[in-house]
This record gives sequence, C-alpha cells and structure tokens, in this order.
Amino acid sequence: MTAPPHPVQPRRVAVVGGGWAGLAAAVRAVGDGHHVTVFEASRHWGGRARTLPTTLTTDGPPGHRAGDTLQLDNGQHILIGAYTDTLRCMRLVGVDTEAVLHRLPLRLTYPDGTGLALPAWPAPLDVLAGVLTAKGWTWHDKWSLLRAALRWQLAGFRCNAATTVADLCAHLPQRLQDGFIEPLCVSALNTPAARASGQVFLRVLQDALFSTPQGSNLLLPTRPLGELWPDAAVRWLAARPSSARLQLACRVTQLARNPADTTWHLNGQDFDHVVWANYDKKVPLALDGIDKSATHRFSYIASKHMQFEPIATVYAWAQACGAPPQAAPPGTPGSSTSASAHTLPHPMLALAPTQAYPAQFVFDKGQLGGPHGLLAFVISASQGDARHLQQAVQAQAAAQLGLQLQCIRTIVEKRATFACTPDAPRPAMYAAPGLTLAGDHVQGPYPATLEGAIRSGWTAAGAVR
Ligand SMILES: Cc1cc2nc3c(=O)[nH]c(=O)nc-3n(C[C@H](O)[C@H](O)[C@H](O)COP(=O)(O)OP(=O)(O)OC[C@H]3O[C@@H](n4cnc5c(N)ncnc54)[C@H](O)[C@@H]3O)c2cc1C
Repeated sequence: MTAPPHPVQPRRVAVVGGGWAGLAAAVRAVGDGHHVTVFEASRHWGGRARTLPTTLTTDGPPGHRAGDTLQLDNGQHILIGAYTDTLRCMRLVGVDTEAVLHRLPLRLTYPDGTGLALPAWPAPLDVLAGVLTAKGWTWHDKWSLLRAALRWQLAGFRCNAATTVADLCAHLPQRLQDGFIEPLCVSALNTPAARASGQVFLRVLQDALFSTPQGSNLLLPTRPLGELWPDAAVRWLAARPSSARLQLACRVTQLARNPADTTWHLNGQDFDHVVWANYDKKVPLALDGIDKSATHRFSYIASKHMQFEPIATVYAWAQACGAPPQAAPPGTPGSSTSASAHTLPHPMLALAPTQAYPAQFVFDKGQLGGPHGLLAFVISASQGDARHLQQAVQAQAAAQLGLQLQCIRTIVEKRATFACTPDAPRPAMYAAPGLTLAGDHVQGPYPATLEGAIRSGWTAAGAVR
C-alpha cells in the first residue's frame, strides 16, 4: 500500500461510488496529485458501512425518550488486527484508531462461558494456549483442531479452488464444526460453511492468526461507523478543494469513451481515468458503447452474475427477565446486580443459532461506547423479513440470555456481501484502459470486508497514469 512516486502529470479522475472503496481511491488519487471528483448516488457517504441516525419512537431506559436520536449503524461491523490497510488509511485522514476501536484478543465464547478465548500473547502461542484452554471442548476436539491448523500451515494455507469450508473441516469433530468453524465462517465470509470458499477462509486464517502481529485481535467500533472512515475521509478531501470535488445524490448512469481520444465522458464531464467503485447491477448498461474485447466484457459480466447474502441487525434495549438456562457465573446476562453492571459478560458473545433462534452474535453496545442496555444482534446470511427476525431474536434472547428485549430497529441489508463461494464470479480490477473497478467484490484474496474494499480502492487509484 505504498504510494507511487509523484505522477508525471495530474489527471482528471472520476470515482463512482462513495463507499469505503471509493473514498480510499479518492484519498489516494488526491494524495498522488490528481484532480478527483467523487460521485455518490445516495444522500450519504459510506455505502454498506455507514451511520444511520435513528429516532426513538418509544421511551427507552431512563435518559432515553421517544424523539431522541441514536447514532446506530446500518449493521454491526467487526474489524480485526489484520485489517492493516484500513487502519493505515484511517490514520492517514486523522482518525485516532485506538480511540474509535476497542481492541481485545480473539474470543468466540458463548453465554455459558464455553468456547475459544485467546490470551494476549504473541502468535502462534496465543492460538496454542487458547485452543488448549478452550472451555467445553474435549482433548480430542483440541487435538483435532491443532492438527488441522498444522496441516493447513504446512500446505501454505492453500487448497483446491473448488473446496468449501465444510469440505476443508469435514474431519473435525461435529462440536467444533457447529460451535467454532460455522460461526467463524459466517462472521468472516458471511456465507455458510457448506457453500463458503475454503481458499478464502484459509487466507483469512493465515493473515489473522499467523501473518500479522495481533492480526487476530477483534477491533470493535466504539464510535458510529461514519467516524471510522467515511466522514473522516470526506473531511480530508473537502479540506483540499482544489483537488477534490464531492457530489452526493449524484448517480452516474452513463459512461462513454470519447471517440476523439482516450478520455471518458460521464455526467456531462470529461475524465482521464474512472474508478468504478460500486457493484451496481447496471454496470454493463452504464458501460454500454465502450471497448468490447473479450477480457473487458468478462469483467462486466462477472459482476452481473454475482450472488448476494443478506445480513440483519436487530437493535434492542435489554433488561433481565430471569436466569438464563445454563448455570451462570456472576456477571452473566440476567444476573446483573447493580445498575452499572454490564448487560453481557463480554462486549461480544457467540450465540447458538437454530431454525427458531437465528442470531449468531450479540454485541453489548454499552461496553462499546453506546448507551447502557443497548444490544445489537447479528444474523449473517439471514432469511425472512425484519418483523419475523425481530420476534425470533426476542424469543432467542429470553431463552439463551435470560433477557427481555424492547426492539428499537431491525435493519436487513439484502445485498450485504457477495456470496463468497468457491466459484464467485469476481471481476478483475482492469476493465479497460483508463477504467479500473474497485470494491469488496473485485478479485482479491479477501471476502467482502472493509479491508477488501479499502485495499481494492487504494489499488484501483494506483493505476491512474
Ligand atoms: C450489515 C453489514 C454488516 C457487515 N459486517 C462486516 C464486518 O463485520 N466486517 C467487515 O469487514 N465487513 C462487513 N460488512 C461488509 C462491508 O460493509 C463491505 O465490504 C464494504 O462496506 C463494501 O464497501 P464498497 O465501497 O466496496 O461498496 P459499497 O459500500 O456498496 O459502496 C458502493 C457505493 O457506490 C454507490 N453507487 C452505486 N451505484 C452508483 C452509481 N451508479 N453512481 C454513483 N454511486 C453509486 C452506492 O450508493 C454506494 O455508496 C458488512 C456489510 C453489511 C451490509
């Protein structure tokens, strides 16, 4: 992610899309000395990772009345220590990453305390110790997982391209497949293990557990998502008015090659280079009339055939309604003894999803800079509408956490991420001379993540000549 030497000649660059990828492209292009215009179709920056101010419709706990506004996000996001380029970009635009992210060693534990919790030790000792001390796992489970990790490492974290995560882990005990691999897979790839790409899963494991110091750390946002990147990037760009123009509520519907030269024409303006930083299904239409060589056509067609997975987030106030079913140590949900006690024993807990109880994770926003008592339940690859999911999560919270929920808002992002299957048709970055694609869906080692988006935007802008 190092910037190239200063360009010979400043170029006119259009960035189409103001999500995390587009803004990374814009910041790099301005930093490299180009003149950049960012077009964003919606009325807000940040795309699929943005702040969603929410007005309360009913009174909540003391201090929260109907009519008050909460800064929620369009979905609970997790970053990890291996998101090195995201962290670097955030710092570049002046974000204090330590202040806006709560860093803690990787922990995938359930309400009854079982599961994996790594100590704050250097890798790979943290993994070794975490696995050996995991609660609720037998010695056979632990030994099987360590053997599998060693095998993956010896194979250079590579597998056959057609292998799914379920294939990769088929020999692991069922308890680990259900209680560890599946939640890890849906949280990282937002695709169930039975359909998820083994190769991408291994790459995430490699970077998180073995390549980057503290790469497996969870970095949980303590501020609204806008403050992590989009708002800060926009502020940074707006402070450079001679190099950056920002156009909200401005959808690009046409893109045409100027016949006289190699420049592009869009929304009434000419540009030397376009970074197409979105996966609007209209891309093939929007690009009508440009070079139709086989390679270029493949790029457009690829993104057109992409399949998507939803993610739902249920935000709710919580209060104890009885002891949770399992024996609960002090500090466990439902056993709070004082008004200041946390609602959950940890900022993030894994849950056991079933057909009736869909949430895989719950976050205690009160421990993450938000109001006391506010929880966010996450349902990756969710099915059903918001009302149905909300009711199911209320029942799940009562049964698995001993908590009664007063739901505030349920957000279902239908096209949250592309389905990270072995055959996901991810387009190449180079679409045509002077036209690069950016976004979490563009070919790369990562699943649909903030890090994938930032890396892609940064690289796509680096191709401006
Ligand atoms: C609910 C949810 C939870 C998630 N959880 C995590 C997580 O925990 N960790 C993680 O790393 N990732 C997570 N992700 C994924 C992450 O949010 C995405 O990978 C990332 O935001 C994608 O950014 P992007 O810039 O590639 O695309 P987008 O955010 O989709 O940006 C594209 C932008 O282009 C704009 N646009 C589209 N068409 C046009 C046009 N014709 N003209 C102008 N503008 C246009 C769109 O309005 C949009 O703003 C989650 C996503 C969701 C939805």
